[in-house]
Amino acid sequence: MYVPLLATDFLRHAVQQYGKKTGVVDGDKRFTYAQFGERVHRLSNALIDMGIKKGDRVAVLDTNSHRLLELHFGVPQIGAILLPINIRLSPREITYVLNDSGARCLVINEDMTGLVERDQLKSVERYIILEGDEQKPGSIPGERYEPLLEGSSAIIEDDFGLDEQDPAEMFYTSGTSGNPKGMLLTHRTLWLAATKDLFFGVANDRTVYLQAIPLFHANCWRKAHMITAVGGRHVMLPQFRPALICELIEREKVNYMEMVPTMADTLTQFGDLDKYDLSSLERIVIGGAPLLEGTQNTLMEKFPWCVIHAGYGMSETSSCGTTAHLKEHLRGLPDEQKKVLMRSQGYADMLTRVRIVDGNGNDVKHDGIAMGEIIMRGNTVIDGYWGLPEETKKTIIDGWLYSGDIATMNEDGYITIVDRKKDIIISGGENIGSVEVENVISSHPAVAEVAVVAAPHEKWGETPAAFIVLAENARLTADELIAYCREEGLSGFKIPRIIEFKADLPKGGTGKVLKSELKRSLWK
Ligand code: AMP
Repeated sequence: MYVPLLATDFLRHAVQQYGKKTGVVDGDKRFTYAQFGERVHRLSNALIDMGIKKGDRVAVLDTNSHRLLELHFGVPQIGAILLPINIRLSPREITYVLNDSGARCLVINEDMTGLVERDQLKSVERYIILEGDEQKPGSIPGERYEPLLEGSSAIIEDDFGLDEQDPAEMFYTSGTSGNPKGMLLTHRTLWLAATKDLFFGVANDRTVYLQAIPLFHANCWRKAHMITAVGGRHVMLPQFRPALICELIEREKVNYMEMVPTMADTLTQFGDLDKYDLSSLERIVIGGAPLLEGTQNTLMEKFPWCVIHAGYGMSETSSCGTTAHLKEHLRGLPDEQKKVLMRSQGYADMLTRVRIVDGNGNDVKHDGIAMGEIIMRGNTVIDGYWGLPEETKKTIIDGWLYSGDIATMNEDGYITIVDRKKDIIISGGENIGSVEVENVISSHPAVAEVAVVAAPHEKWGETPAAFIVLAENARLTADELIAYCREEGLSGFKIPRIIEFKADLPKGGTGKVLKSELKRSLWK
């Protein structure tokens, strides 16, 4: 029997099986799945009444909130396409995204109206305002969200003739080089992506998940749908503030959370961490950027009772890729080796085929040493970029997506990213992966955060430069750090020639360090 895989299946299931259960917590607000489902239906009907049709793009600018979660279901339910926009993009980039996508409707948190250059928008016809306390002077006029829902029916009977190949969501890359690139995710893609972590049995109806990573990031690593599918509980985190995180973990008994490494560093450095009861946490997954040894050590020290591992993916793969679970038959390995595997990018699952290839497209040896580019193929990989056939041709070759990430693969299938292709440091003809240097520096107890990039060098062409944020009250000089790198066995040419201590590192919307900015400061 062919029944299309639809993003709406998750909510229907949660409402039917877990209607009385609290499914969504946002600040003081709590919604059962029945209440949440009703709000989603009202939203869908409101959009229909506003004239939104199948295929229309509905953009949204908001932090993680129950409303953003409602949009994840209410928009695709009627065949429209949800476009969550990264709120850290500049107004110019946001204008570009809205115009490029041809968005017809913009749903916007009224605290963010300053991000939008309304007179520059070409396609937006309708605005929905997610209310703060009061409508602010100069903010965008539009329909207000809560009255809109109140005035709409809570009954949906139509199935809108949806097929699993219909697009359901749209995302844009961060656009660190050039304009952001758009991509569509179909219902089928979202459905399959949501099942990814279930292969590892990491979520079920006792899961209480902290939505810490912004949902505008590549479908927030699939968790809007997956947590709903299993009847788990979403705990929304509007801002990454350590005190708020600890309060929510303690109050809601959160047992699962995911972070990018810089978030993890911020959390573990929080001075009051020990004052909270965080014992409910069981699993911490780190992705979006390499999990460095120093960050792993600190996480293991602060949360010794938790399973802590990394995961890797891209927007282009709906965030699916590889996961660093420890395979059962490797549990007998010495602790240090297990740690290396669990902070690696991990291994492929049923959804995504992963290969590491050389410049001619041939697989490199799976010896953990030979480097090549990660390429991926699978049901959650995009067909191409929105309106960019040339970019698509460069990225998807013979049915494989070229990631731009350079990695090794070991004989057990675990991959380890060495660097982004464009960030690899070439010093006197030798390749230096910034991750190796960062791993060593991060393991120094005085270092809270580190990023290593290529700096120009008269003789060697390039040389590593390290930007470092020290842990609170810690002291470290450049000479001491160089001595430490030597002691740790880092080859001379890999030891940074430039070491800059900074109060913080520049970060993008998801907390990833913007290496391009650091590089620019050196290559003026
Ligand atoms: P985005 O599409 O914004 O999610 O960025 C995808 C990129 O983030 C990948 O191509 C990698 O360069 C990087 N990335 C994601 N997860 C990891 C990870 N666990 N380790 C290293 N890099 C990662």
